[in-house]
Amino acid sequence: MTIKNTTDSHHRFHRRNEKMADQEFEIGNTNLPSPYNAEGKLISKQDSYNMDGNKMLWHLDRLEDFKNGKRFAPIHIDSGLSKGCNIKCHYCYGVTQGNFYKESAKKFVSREALIDNYLKSAGKVGVRSIAFIGEAEPTLNPHLYEAVVVGKESGIDISIGTNGILFDTGRDGQAALEHLSWLRFNVSAGSDKSYRLIHASKEFNTLVEKIKYCVEYKRKNNLTLDIGIQMVLTPKDIAEVVPLAKLGAELGVDYFQVKHCSDTVENALGFYERLDDYEKFAPLLFEAESYGHDDYKVVVKWDKITNEGHRDYDQCLGAPFLLYTEGTGKVYSCGMFFDGKFEEGYRLGDLNKQTFQEILESDHYWNVIDKVRNEIDVHKECYANCRTHSCNNFLWDVKDSGVTSGVIKKHSGGFTIENPPKHKNFV
Ligand code: SF4
Ligand code: SF4
Repeated sequence: MTIKNTTDSHHRFHRRNEKMADQEFEIGNTNLPSPYNAEGKLISKQDSYNMDGNKMLWHLDRLEDFKNGKRFAPIHIDSGLSKGCNIKCHYCYGVTQGNFYKESAKKFVSREALIDNYLKSAGKVGVRSIAFIGEAEPTLNPHLYEAVVVGKESGIDISIGTNGILFDTGRDGQAALEHLSWLRFNVSAGSDKSYRLIHASKEFNTLVEKIKYCVEYKRKNNLTLDIGIQMVLTPKDIAEVVPLAKLGAELGVDYFQVKHCSDTVENALGFYERLDDYEKFAPLLFEAESYGHDDYKVVVKWDKITNEGHRDYDQCLGAPFLLYTEGTGKVYSCGMFFDGKFEEGYRLGDLNKQTFQEILESDHYWNVIDKVRNEIDVHKECYANCRTHSCNNFLWDVKDSGVTSGVIKKHSGGFTIENPPKHKNFV
């Protein structure tokens, strides 16, 4: 398979995916209850977070503003805090967004832009949640822990997605744990040997110790945050899914999530053209789910794993509800705009020069939001299963008919308006 449209530096690295063999796997337990629901769809029965859907139903005030043509603050922002990484996962989508691993690890958003221009201002205008997650590793930014505390104190629910190796176990890390809604460790290998291959790192044991530390600190201090581990599923790591389900149970985390691999339509990582392979992984994923129980959820994002990247809508309406900031402080409505041909024309603003409020209240911001809606061809240009995809599904369902009982049934994930899933602000 040919890898197209990557820069030379990334191109060299992506040859690794071509050389890496697909993992072989065997189904250990075939005697499991049917995972299909009455409509014949695969739905996670353990998703107490509605991770495989969206939480737009719990933000109908913003929907009202949208319908009335008003300007409003986004509900959620996925925020990169750096441009590099200390490891090299074979599925890293960040490489299509300007992440050059250790080469770019010293590039990160400054304290002033992050704390003053961004978090305090975003809290003031009503942003409800921010995940420090993005295209690179957030722990490479020395201001991460302070940002968690300031963000929360500004009225925003905060979370972190990290590879965990550098997570601080001193007072800074502890303060972050005390202010976070959730902390998720990115790990797609269940042993030291496979970690070296899948993540190109020798730090598996360090990661395990960091997870143990966070779980222990949470328990000792009765903290409310949820701690999870997340696997990005590809044909190169499928055999890790059951070992990881067991590892999560042993470590005492709250959940183990299995998600799809995002890739560009140009097949930059070599997985876009293999999305239909995922179907054959289902029996092993059922087996992984069987390790979940009341206190430990194994959540397979079935919808995104099985939809083969298809979209049933024609425009991105979700842009004003969910933003993305990249690791040096620029703001966009989509991670696909961080680097390359869309960057300049689709940049909403720059936190190094403006506050978040100034960006949000500018005509330029709303002109770009309109441009996304009218000029981006979601079928030809958008990467598969972007973070905004499920919000788009919701917005297209309510566009003409409003929030009907059918919409509630389809998008509530079994919850009710009065009884929302956990972390409803992380839409
Ligand atoms: S930990 Fe995240 S940023 Fe680092 S290589 Fe893996 S996927 Fe990319
Ligand atoms: S990938 Fe497409 S649908 Fe998704 S946020 Fe970007 S522009 Fe919108």
